[in-house]
Amino acid sequence: MARVHQAAAHHLTRQELQAPGKRVGPWQAADLPAQGRGAHETLRYFLEQVAPHLNGSAGPRYFGFVTGGATPASVVRDWLVSTFDQNACGHNDSAAPLIEQQTIDFFKQLFGLPSDFFGSFVTGATQSNAVGLALGREWVGEQQGMDISNEGSQRLALRVASGTAHSSVYKAMSFLGMGRHHLISIDTLPHREAVDVARLETYLQSLNGTPVIVVANAGTVNTADFDDLEAIGQLKQTYPFWMHVDAAFGGFAALSPDFRHWMKGIEHADSITIDAHKWLNVPYDAAMQFTRHRGLQLKVFQNSAAYLSDPEQSPDYFHYTPENSRRWRALPSWFTLMAYGQEGHREIVERNCACARQLGDWIAASADYQLLAPVRMNIVCFAPRHVSDRAALHAWLARIRDDGRVFFTPTIYKGFPAVRAAFSNWQTSAHDVQITIDVLNQLLPHNASPTV
Ligand SMILES: *Cc1c(COP(=O)(O)O)cnc(C)c1O
Repeated sequence: MARVHQAAAHHLTRQELQAPGKRVGPWQAADLPAQGRGAHETLRYFLEQVAPHLNGSAGPRYFGFVTGGATPASVVRDWLVSTFDQNACGHNDSAAPLIEQQTIDFFKQLFGLPSDFFGSFVTGATQSNAVGLALGREWVGEQQGMDISNEGSQRLALRVASGTAHSSVYKAMSFLGMGRHHLISIDTLPHREAVDVARLETYLQSLNGTPVIVVANAGTVNTADFDDLEAIGQLKQTYPFWMHVDAAFGGFAALSPDFRHWMKGIEHADSITIDAHKWLNVPYDAAMQFTRHRGLQLKVFQNSAAYLSDPEQSPDYFHYTPENSRRWRALPSWFTLMAYGQEGHREIVERNCACARQLGDWIAASADYQLLAPVRMNIVCFAPRHVSDRAALHAWLARIRDDGRVFFTPTIYKGFPAVRAAFSNWQTSAHDVQITIDVLNQLLPHNASPTV
């Protein structure tokens, strides 16, 4: 244990020096040993053979996806999750689920959600989106006199309408049996990723009262754009739909007076997705799902067995969540919120957004790069001026990765190959932006070799 502690402490103190991205070559896997090698020898093997090939994605200059790192309070408490190894489902014999409930209450306060929202922890925003869609499907079924959770959805022709839905929404529709092709893509506003609410209304009107699910996007991954949640919420007075809001990282806008307006109207949501392992900076895997339809959630997820509690009476999580046995994944979030408070996490969000602005301003003034969208919050969407095809862009990004100072991921924005730099790590500061600017100055894309 002391050696693992030593190795972990060593890693954490050197985190800043680690290459954020790594090129992973062919992997020589070890055979299953017939006789155990022992924990010490296996640790040595791990530190020598595996650890050098791991990336520094939890460090301050990993700008790929929207990852976040893990605050010290959350890392150390994640050890306690495994040490106590609670099955955070039943309330009868452990306080673990009560701490989960309290953590969900903390989040309702943090995000300004009405107190009547129910919530739980799931593995990630993908799973949270799936829970929201499953609840929405149950609701749409009920509106049409069907009992989907018991009878199945064969008779239901369900549509999901959205502007710029995250890829995980399609994935969730696939594994829920709703079908990816049943996502109806609604036009976005000009030069935006936010849905055109007038087009959404036209679509809803065309359904003549048939209920659907609308996925509203609060923070798109390319440009951190937000649908007008208030305007979409208002449409509920006229048209029957379930409003699911994917606010995986964008929900954190609510922490800052500078960005809070993006979340205006969130209280109209029927279900909400927010990730913890992204902008809260806790270890994987942790996200929250919220809904104001607790009864529907019980209907969809209840798990009856002779040896379990009565679903109608019990608050036990296995009647509400996709899992039965479940990790006590609320604990690191509880610790980081207790340790740093609302102010501490507001400071991370605002510092990350200031860093994004700093990089965005530099790019906007640069002769070599082009800013593709205004920096609304924590994401800078840009492209090198001299690279137009995808292969050259990827080759250039591979050179940046191999240089080892910063890491970006590519995207396609409005049909053009682009780069997105997402700021969501608790350690990132103006100093890291300066290093990023140095890299962009030194590794100009027109020097990129044509093949990877
Ligand atoms: C990251 C993200 C997801 C998927 O989240 P996971 O936690 O990786 O499952 C869904 N929606 C949005 C907007 C995201 O940014």
